[in-house]
Amino acid sequence: MATQTVLLVEDEESFVDALTVGLKREGFRVEVARDGLEALNRFDLVQPDVVLLDVMLPKMSGIDVCRQLRKRTQVPIIMVTAKGAEIDTVVGLEVGADDYITKPYRMRELVARMRAVMRRVSTERGSSPAEIDGSILEVGDVSLDPDEHVVRVRGELVQMPLKEFELLHLLLANVGRVLARETLIDRVWGIDYVGDTKTLDVHIKRLRAKIEDEPSDPKRIVTIRGLGYKFERSR
Ligand code: CA
Repeated sequence: MATQTVLLVEDEESFVDALTVGLKREGFRVEVARDGLEALNRFDLVQPDVVLLDVMLPKMSGIDVCRQLRKRTQVPIIMVTAKGAEIDTVVGLEVGADDYITKPYRMRELVARMRAVMRRVSTERGSSPAEIDGSILEVGDVSLDPDEHVVRVRGELVQMPLKEFELLHLLLANVGRVLARETLIDRVWGIDYVGDTKTLDVHIKRLRAKIEDEPSDPKRIVTIRGLGYKFERSR
């Protein structure tokens, strides 16, 4: 595999130093930008394979950088947020970040997430979130066949009305990734949907009743508080 370049956008020197060393050890080429404007300039110059983007930056916030980058590229972007800054995470995902990680984090977790978003984006050829197509999706013992409109759980056929099916389809196509409530509603009910947002929760509840071992203690479709939902990878 060719060496992959990460654009590290970070203004705290101690982080820059530690990450540069750690990421190089993992085989990445590391380019550093220390403020938001430099991030955009460096991006155009180096065309990185992945961007690690701190939210709190001089000159231009990570949120605005992300918004600008999304106008020109589908490069995977991982937002780095401060502990407890849930709002940054929500906004980050809304402006098109692929994932987020909260400081302090472990190098191993960071690298795993970087590889995951790069894999995802390369297989999806840059759509965000994953476009859904006709291929069969299988995560653990849940499988979904879009062409036949069939869901199987532990090999058993499960009946599913259209909206539940579409919701499950979207979650499975983005396995391991948090999908914001707004994204799920837009994609399943349409951007002009004006109904009760509880509709989403009701559908999630019905899905859980069909695919979880313990619907009251879901292990597959998990709630990410303040954000949305995620279909967990199988372990
Ligand atoms: Ca910072």
